[in-house]
Amino acid sequence: MIPEYNIYVHVPFCSSKCNYCAFFSHACANPDWDQYANGIISEINYWGKKLCAPDVATVFFGGGTPSLMPPQFFDKILTAIRKNFNLDQNCEVTLESNPGTINHDRLVDFCNAGVTRLSVGVQSLSDEKLKFLGRRHTVKDAMNLISDAIKQNIRLSADFIYGMPHDTTDDIIKMCQDINSIGLRHCSLYELTLEPNTVFGKMNLDMPSNTEMADMYMAIDDTLDLQRYEVSNYAAPGFECAHNQNVWDGAPYIGIGRGAAGRIKIGNQWYEQMGNNEVFAKIDSKTRAIERIITGMRQVRGVKLDPGIQKVINMDFVTSNPELLNMTTDNRIAATKQGMLILDDIILNMTR
Ligand code: SF4
Repeated sequence: MIPEYNIYVHVPFCSSKCNYCAFFSHACANPDWDQYANGIISEINYWGKKLCAPDVATVFFGGGTPSLMPPQFFDKILTAIRKNFNLDQNCEVTLESNPGTINHDRLVDFCNAGVTRLSVGVQSLSDEKLKFLGRRHTVKDAMNLISDAIKQNIRLSADFIYGMPHDTTDDIIKMCQDINSIGLRHCSLYELTLEPNTVFGKMNLDMPSNTEMADMYMAIDDTLDLQRYEVSNYAAPGFECAHNQNVWDGAPYIGIGRGAAGRIKIGNQWYEQMGNNEVFAKIDSKTRAIERIITGMRQVRGVKLDPGIQKVINMDFVTSNPELLNMTTDNRIAATKQGMLILDDIILNMTR
């Protein structure tokens, strides 16, 4: 049986580089979109044929800043995906966007071309902090895009960053209260991390301590109106990001574009898949099971204890640490709230 797939399309261009950004992205607001789209479409044609046009549950355009793309190129790419794959009737099509790159007309064009879910890089509700982060937009730009998207009747998510220098738990509680007042059904809150080779990585920033970060993390859970369903993701029930949930649960996905990688399954064999058509390496079942534990355990609902996972899991560790791990009624192993704070250590001990 051919499994149901998910597709990730990487758009690696941004208007400029943010101070904290370690993602694969180029500061180039006006690339040759025709050439870029044609490259993407040739990969779509290749994988559609190679995998015999499987069913597709979700498509995710991530970046970079995919909303910089002129909507006609987005339309062309999604049309090629529709031609080469069998998109579910309710296929979730997400577009990552940054405020200031997408006005009302462009948003309408993207929605008409097939976007069903918009993810907005808001990052902060303080203009001062946006400037510090090296973002090009203002809070007003972000709020304009959000209210425009709400009118389009599509699903909406917003990204935020917390744990900046001098942030206190009270600041984060206030930020969550402000987020609540927007009335979002989905948002992601990421802790600021200093990566080498970024502007921030070269500065000597006075960051909150690990204990302060842990207090902020707990305060988010207590203050946001939405429920945490993954380490950094929060949603009203039924508004989770299906693309990410499928990938975290271990469903196959295809990465399209430079810098994108996927996991595909042909027969019973898993392969690493890259945007470059030729890269096609086998992944043994143990490695794939460990990958599924790493991504599955990031979810509040945890990882399904199926036969592949049973082969690699250290059940003694799971059963002897009830304060960190529990078994759910649908046969999943999940981290407790306390366990979520030391997830990396737990995952290391869970596998053998
Ligand atoms: S918009 Fe996102 S991908 Fe682009 S530079 Fe900023 S953080 Fe990086």
